[in-house]
Order: sequence, then structure tokens, then C-alpha cells
Amino acid sequence: MTTQNERLFARAQQSTPGGVNSPVRAFRSVGGTPRFITRAEGPYFWDADDRRYIDYIGSWGPAIVGHAHPEVVKAVQEAAARGLSFGAPTEGEIDMAERICQLVPSIEQVRLVSSGTEAAMSALRLARGATGRDKIIKFEGCYHGHADSLLVKAGSGLLTFGNPTSAGVPEDFAKHTLVLDYNNPQQLEDVFKKMGDQIACVIVEPIAGNMNLLRATPEFLQTMRRVCTQYGAALIFDEVMSGFRVALGGAQSIYGIAPDLTVLGKVIGGGLPVAAFGGRADLMQHLAPLGGVYQAGTLSGNPVTVAAGMATLKLIQAPGFHDTLAAQTSKLVQGLSAAAADHGIAFCADSVGGMFGLYFAEQLPVSYATMMECDKQRFNRFFHAMLDANVYLAPSAFEAGFVSAQHDDAIIAQTIAAASDAFALIANDIK
Ligand SMILES: *Cc1c(COP(=O)(O)O)cnc(C)c1O
Repeated sequence: MTTQNERLFARAQQSTPGGVNSPVRAFRSVGGTPRFITRAEGPYFWDADDRRYIDYIGSWGPAIVGHAHPEVVKAVQEAAARGLSFGAPTEGEIDMAERICQLVPSIEQVRLVSSGTEAAMSALRLARGATGRDKIIKFEGCYHGHADSLLVKAGSGLLTFGNPTSAGVPEDFAKHTLVLDYNNPQQLEDVFKKMGDQIACVIVEPIAGNMNLLRATPEFLQTMRRVCTQYGAALIFDEVMSGFRVALGGAQSIYGIAPDLTVLGKVIGGGLPVAAFGGRADLMQHLAPLGGVYQAGTLSGNPVTVAAGMATLKLIQAPGFHDTLAAQTSKLVQGLSAAAADHGIAFCADSVGGMFGLYFAEQLPVSYATMMECDKQRFNRFFHAMLDANVYLAPSAFEAGFVSAQHDDAIIAQTIAAASDAFALIANDIK
């Protein structure tokens, strides 16, 4: 029988490339038909066949207080009733900027934009404009949105100037991006020794969430901070995913390292399009209208999206919010690990705050290379078994998962029970 999801997917493919507005939604990596979502509430969403799933992507992070939280919805409705967009400043934008500066103390000034891509792209331009240098360093496996300079992977050879990972990115742009190994402080130090005076900035996910969850070692980030200061390059933490998610103050509060610039998104809009970049005031002063680095946005600081973001930030500042979230997430990954062990499956899991990673591997990955050794086939089998049991995980072995404040003990227990059955299926495959 054809399901509504199948019907909608066939229809979507007629009018939209691949049937989706962002590639990972298409289920290419895991196979099968994407679910078309009709509504969401708390820890759940429903698809077009009216099936309810426990949701572990939370819109890829933003839904940290649970879907359709009454206070967020109310803030949006009230803001919308006052008008959708003015193209002139509002007090709400000041409230938001002040709140961000308060929660992330390395940010002295901030500018609001509408997507993480836009924020990362603008932070790069700012770093280049402020230093007068062109070269940037990024790390294999980190994602910073789809700006030209950032869709680049390591080339071959020791000093790896990048190769584009997307058609349409000129070699001439990619050649300014150096792509290094995550968690390899020695390599970073060597590159700075060789050409540190040409490097505008280093951009990194201080806790990586786009090659599955991978923690940076403290030494890696400390080395980065040290060499950036020594050579006058800007250190940019891309906390679009980790910000307000791994801890209220983001990954930088966990490691105790202050970057020069921070990129934010996802949670900061509570499900509506808000992102931001900010940091040292002397750097931010290079932005137009004060300085020569141009950056602008018709809908930047939009009153409705900012209202959703502010309502979300207020909720996550409740005392103990992140402690409870971290405890629930940790219960989930411990339960999953125990269930896998019961069935003799090579599996591990990790979590930081409300973000988690599942790995079909003997040991926790510590680098991009070890991450790529995880068993993708087993993940895909697991993903579909969980989906059949109404648990929606990220549809790729190399994406992180997200828990919301509405994932209570009963939901976690239900998830672990479903996983136990899924691991049993995998154990049976192996036999
Ligand atoms: C999601 C993400 C981005 C891109 O944000 P968009 O809003 O999708 O453009 C950038 N950096 C990181 C670390 C992300 O997780």
C-alpha cells in the first residue's frame, strides 16, 4: 500500500530537486522514504500517515525546550500580531544582543543574521577584513554551512590546501582554505610555524556535531588558542550546534577557552531562523556601518524570530535546566550502550549536555579517520528498526542526536526498549 509519505515524496520530487529543501532530509544515506511531518509537540512529531515518533533530531538542535512550547508559541503569536518585519531597529534586538553577551562572555558585541551559514560566512569575512589576510584554517569533518570557502576538504600532500567538496566552488577560493585534522595539535602548530603570518583565522566546532558527535581534546583547543594569539589570527568557535546545547555558555564554557569570535544559530532561534556572530568589540567594530567589512540582511533581527529566540533563551536559563537535560541524555546513551552489550554488538555512545553520538565501533572515535571506520551498514539497519518502532533518529550514521527537556524517563525507557529489539535484529544478522 502506498503511504501518504510516499505520495508526498513522489509529488515533492516533481517541484523540488530531490524532493527536499536540505539534502540530509532525503534519507539518501539510510535509504527509504522520508517522513513528511505534519505537527509536533513536546518530544514527539507526527508524519503524514499520522504516526507518532519520539523525535531525536529536534529540528537539528533548536527544539531544546520541546516542540511547540506554549511560552515560545505565545511569544511568536504576540510578536506576529504587532507586525512581521519593519526593516528598522527594534528594542527586541537589543534585548537579544544583551542576553547573548551575558550568556557567552567572550562575546562583547554581536550581530544577528538569519542562518548559521550566513553567520559563519560573515565571521570569516570579518576575520579576513580585520587581519588583511586571506588564508583560513578549517578541520576535516567540521561543517560551517555552505559558503564557498568552507565547502572544502583536505587535498593530498602534507600542506593540504583544500579541494572543493561541491561543484561550483572555484579552485581559486578553495586554495585559500587549509584543511587540517581535527584533534591534531602538532599539525596545527607546524602549519602556523610555516605560514602563521598569512592566516586570517582558524574556524572550528569546539565540540564537533557534524561528523557525528566528536569531542575536541583540551590540548587541541588550547594549542589553537595559543597559536592564534601568537600569530595574530582570529580564533572562531562555530557553536551553531554546541551553543546553549552542550551547556548554557556553550563549549567554550566547558573548556574555559575564549575565542575571538563565536558563531551561533539553531537553539538561538528556538525553531525560527535566527543566527548570530559576535566576539571582541575591537574586531566587531570593523563591520559596516563603522568599518569597512560589509554585511547586511533585510530580515536580520526580525521581530518574530527574535521573539522565539528570546523565549527559548529565557526557558533554558531556568536553574538546573542543562543539568537535567545532560542527565536525561546520559541516561539514554548509557541505556543504549548496555542494551548493545547485552546483544554482543560493537557499539558505543557519548553525550555532552543535550547532544549525543551513537557509534557502531569498539571504541569511541577520537578523530575524523576513526569516525569514518564506524559501521555504516549496521547504523542503517538500526535506524530503520528504530523508525519502525516509532523512534526518529538522524537519518545518517554521521550526524549527532538531540534530546529536549520534554524527553522524560518514560520516553527514554521506551527508546531503550526499542533499541534492545533493534540490537537483537542486528545480532541475528551477524549470526
Ligand atoms: C547547522 C550548522 C551550521 C549551518 O547553519 P544553517 O542555519 O543550517 O545555515 C553551521 N555550523 C554548524 C556547526 C552547524 O551545526
